[in-house]
Amino acid sequence: MARIQIHNLTKRFGAMTAVSDLTLDIADREFMVLLGPSGAGKTTTLRCVAGVETPDAGEVLFDGRPMRGVPPAARDVAFVFQTYALYPRKTAYENIAFPLEARRLPRAAIDERVRAVARTLHIEHLLERRPAQLSGGEQQRVALGRAMVRSPQAFLMDEPLTNLDFKLRVEMRAELKRIHEDLNTTLFYVTNDQVEAMSLADRIAVLNAGVLQQVGTPEEIYDRPVNRFVAGFIGSPRMNFLPCVLEGGEHVALVGRDGAWRLPLPAPLREAATACGAGELVLGVRPEDIALHGVPPSGDDAIPAEVYAVEPLGDRTIVDLRLAEAIVKVRAAPTFDAPQGARTWLAVDRARIHLFDPRTDLAIV
Ligand code: ATP
Repeated sequence: MARIQIHNLTKRFGAMTAVSDLTLDIADREFMVLLGPSGAGKTTTLRCVAGVETPDAGEVLFDGRPMRGVPPAARDVAFVFQTYALYPRKTAYENIAFPLEARRLPRAAIDERVRAVARTLHIEHLLERRPAQLSGGEQQRVALGRAMVRSPQAFLMDEPLTNLDFKLRVEMRAELKRIHEDLNTTLFYVTNDQVEAMSLADRIAVLNAGVLQQVGTPEEIYDRPVNRFVAGFIGSPRMNFLPCVLEGGEHVALVGRDGAWRLPLPAPLREAATACGAGELVLGVRPEDIALHGVPPSGDDAIPAEVYAVEPLGDRTIVDLRLAEAIVKVRAAPTFDAPQGARTWLAVDRARIHLFDPRTDLAIV
C-alpha cells in the first residue's frame, strides 16, 4: 500500500514533450484513473511511476520517498499491460506462481498464495489450463493474478481491458472494482475509455497533450468540467456546444449567434457570465439535459427545432435536431418517434447548463 505523488513531472522524447509539468497526488488505496485521448502521455506517465522511464524534470515519491535512481524491481509495484504476455507453455497455475518461484519461496507457501489469488479472481477451475486454452478475459485474469500474487505496494495498469470484447470488458470492469476493494491497494489505471474511467475510479485525472486538465471524482468531472476539452471528452453522446452572445439588460439571456434561439440565464450564472466580459460565449448542454415536446410547453425558454435524424438504441433514442445552422443531440425516451423534418420544441434544463469563454475555452462558473 502506498501513496504515490507525482511532482512537476516532465518527460520529453527529442523535441516532443510527452508529459508537461504534471502534478498528481494519489492517496493510499485510491483507485485513480488517468484518462485521455491517444497520445496524451498516459503510458509515459505510468512508465515514469514504474521506473522504466526516467523523467526529465520533477519526481515521483512513494510514501514520501523519492524514487529517482530506484530501479523498477525495487519499487515493488505490479505493472499490468494491455497485452497479457503470459508464458504459453506454462499452465495458469505456473504463470501465477512464477514471481514467487523466482523469489524461492517454499512450495507450500506458493501454493497457498496462488490458490488464494485464484479464488479472488474466480479462476480456481482454470489453473491447469495453458493460455491457449483460455478466453481473452480468462487470460487477463491470469495476468492479473500474476501481478497480485506478490502483494505489491501498488498496481499500475495500462489499458488492461483494451483487447477484450465488449461483453468481457463490461464483466471485467465490475471484477476490477471488486478486486480493488478486496486488495485494499493503490491502483493507478490508464485508459482512453471514459465509460471505464467513470465506472471504476475513485478519482479521474484528465490528461490532454501531456497537460493535466482536471482531477476530481467522476461526478465532479461530469457535472463541473473546468474547460471545454473535459466537457467534450466525457459523456456519450458528447455535450452540445452552441456559440451565442450574452444579451444584457433586465432579463439577461443567451441568444444563438444567428438569433435562432434565446435562453434566459438562471440567476447563479448571470453575474459570472456578465463579469467574464466576453461578448461571445459557448453554451454547453448535455444531451440528457434537454427535454423534447411535440407542442410548445409553457414557460419562456422552449426553443423550436426540426428533427434531423432519429437513432433508436433500445434503452434510449438519440435525436439529432437542426437548430438553425447547428445540430443538437438529445437523449430522448426509447418511445420517441417523429419523422425527419417534424417540428419539435426543446426545453433545456437551465440548472444544468455550462458556459465557456471561447477565448480561453475555460468554464465560466
Ligand atoms: P495511447 O492511449 O495511444 O497509448 P498515451 O496517452 O499512452 O497514448 P504515450 O504513449 O504516453 O500516450 O505517448 C505520448 C506521446 O509521446 C506520443 O506522442 C508518443 O508518440 C510519444 N512517445 C511515447 N514514447 C516515445 C518514445 N519512446 N520515443 C518517442 N516518442 C514517444
